[in-house]
Formats: sequence, C-alpha cells, structure tokens
Amino acid sequence: MSALGSLLVVGDDAEAAGTLREFFTRKGYLVDVASNGGDALMLVSLSRPDAVILDIHLPDTDGARLLSELRALDESITVVMLNGSDNEDAARAFLKAGAFDSVRRPLHWDRLEQTVGRAIVVGREKPRRGVVLPFNPDRRKGSESAPGEGDTAECRVCHERVVDDTRAVIEKGSVSHAACWLGQRARRR
Ligand SMILES: [Zn+2]
Repeated sequence: MSALGSLLVVGDDAEAAGTLREFFTRKGYLVDVASNGGDALMLVSLSRPDAVILDIHLPDTDGARLLSELRALDESITVVMLNGSDNEDAARAFLKAGAFDSVRRPLHWDRLEQTVGRAIVVGREKPRRGVVLPFNPDRRKGSESAPGEGDTAECRVCHERVVDDTRAVIEKGSVSHAACWLGQRARRR
C-alpha cells in the first residue's frame, strides 16, 4: 500500500483509458478507471482519489458537466482535464470551473506525469469533506445470527430500507443509499 497516490481515470474510450491506467500503474500509482460519469461520481463518493484524470467526451455527461458535479460533491478533489489540441477556450473554461490543470492531446507523457504528480500532492494535502465508509462492516461479521431486521437500516434521505449488501454511505453516523446521498449533496449547493 505504499503507492505514490491514488488516481481515478475517467473516460469512455476504453483503449485510451487503459493506456493511461497502464502508464500510471507502472509509475507506482493506484489507478481506478470509470467509463462514464455515474460510475465516476460513485467511485469518488465511496473513496476519494488523490486526483482525477478526466477525458472530456463521455457517454452520459460531458466533461465540463462532470467536472462541476465532482466539484459539487467534493471541492477538494483535484481534477486534471484532457483536452483536444484545438480547444483553448475549453481549457480556459475548465480552469475557471475549478479544474486543477488541463493537458492537451496528443499527450506528452512527461508533462502529464508532472501535472498529475502535482495534482496528487495538492489533493492529498486538502482536507476531505465528510467521512464516507463502506456500509456496516462490523454488523456484517455477526449477521448470521440476525437475519431480516438486523440486516437493514433506514436511508436518511428516502427512508427506504438500506440492505446490508447495498452500496451505501455512512456520514456522521447515519446511513443512506449512495445514490440518495449523491442527490442530496448536489441539492445542498
Ligand atoms: Zn435512499
């Protein structure tokens, strides 16, 4: 676990994302990949990476929108945007919208590594907003003796049951579905 830092690569081009993952894994980073905006938000909410590399074309959202959603979820996240070479205006807009930096395609690997390295240092130093944990790790151990009622809790947001094996979020002692929690986070802003 002595990785240089944790990275989330977000991009719908599987080959490009795979190349980024390979490169940064070889350099000693822990790398996760999300192929769409929903997965990216889920992964970030469950375990905030030290930095995010965000490609701008995604199936369910565009990069600019996802950038603002990530920032709304946790403004301490450092996001490096990958940007088409002909897209100076977009690059400026990303920085204004809170991106840590933006890197042009075609990729200059040394430059990308330097930028991501700085993003990780900054991301690690920033205080993280709120504690997000996997749901109920303790009760899971003893759940054999208490089937049914013992395995559920009420979602703080929608008041439906949260089953023990659902992906869920514990924040300040109360439980919510990850999706409900994300929605509430977005509305709070
Ligand atoms: Zn809920």
